[in-house]
Amino acid sequence: MLCRACGREDTFRLFTTREMLFGWRHPAEYGECPHCHSLQIVAIPTNLGDYYPSDYYSLQPPPPRRKTPGPLRKAWARWLVEGPGGGAMSRRLLRKYPFFHWCRVAGCGLDSKILDVGCGSGGLLRRLQRYGFSDLTGVDPYTSLEADEPGFRVKRAELTELGGGYDLIMMHHVLEHLVDPKRSLEELRARLNPGGRLLVRIPVAGSETCRLYGPDWFNLDPPRHLLVPSCDGMEKLAQRSGFRVARTEFDGIETGFLYSENYKRDIPYTGRPPDDPAKKKHYRRLAEAANRRGEGDQGVFWLAAATAAR
Ligand SMILES: [Zn+2]
Repeated sequence: MLCRACGREDTFRLFTTREMLFGWRHPAEYGECPHCHSLQIVAIPTNLGDYYPSDYYSLQPPPPRRKTPGPLRKAWARWLVEGPGGGAMSRRLLRKYPFFHWCRVAGCGLDSKILDVGCGSGGLLRRLQRYGFSDLTGVDPYTSLEADEPGFRVKRAELTELGGGYDLIMMHHVLEHLVDPKRSLEELRARLNPGGRLLVRIPVAGSETCRLYGPDWFNLDPPRHLLVPSCDGMEKLAQRSGFRVARTEFDGIETGFLYSENYKRDIPYTGRPPDDPAKKKHYRRLAEAANRRGEGDQGVFWLAAATAAR
């Protein structure tokens, strides 16, 4: 098999898992690359669209109501994103509002041109707009919302239909769903300004939770996740697409454990919400500790064009 992350061809370790988000339990075969340990589906289902029913999109929160940011709110956001940082207060706020942190690390400000690929209903862009970000675009071939307002656009379109010139392109849990991730990254690279950053948030194969639960790992999400790269796989995929990984962090949360525990007991995502507060707290602590050790099961990768200065 050819690894869609590192690009090497070899014999993969195969295992069978099943669809559990909706509890359909259709079997799906996955393979682990012996070189980079990324996981990928053996055969992409020909009826992939059937695995994204209308209620898949309703799992996303609806876009919040738009408010025009007042000058104080905007000044506060600008201080947080563009200010000197480093203080205890700013560190605490950046943990509370991770989207400011993503922009800050990417070297972006409130006036940067930002694109969210696979933006769903545009909820994150609406939040950014509420804090004064002034040049926001979202694209999603399946979005229910289309908008063309000053400084805020959401288009129901494929990436290839978009122009370029972005300072920051974000992909939040999208790359793992794409049939040709290398080509998609190349498309994105062509749309970045010099010095721009691509932010990829994605489940991480080989992480602690992935190893612990194997085929029952919630973030494998068969058969929708076609490729779940390891950290090494992400580096190799980035290199093959003309990028380098400029920075990596981890933002796994308790749901990775809670739903994997349910899947292990054959309880689907839609079956029973894991709502025991003590359990939640326990797993939240485990997830935070795993993130700190570089073992979180969700990664945040900032990619820069390989030719850009280090
Ligand atoms: Zn590989």
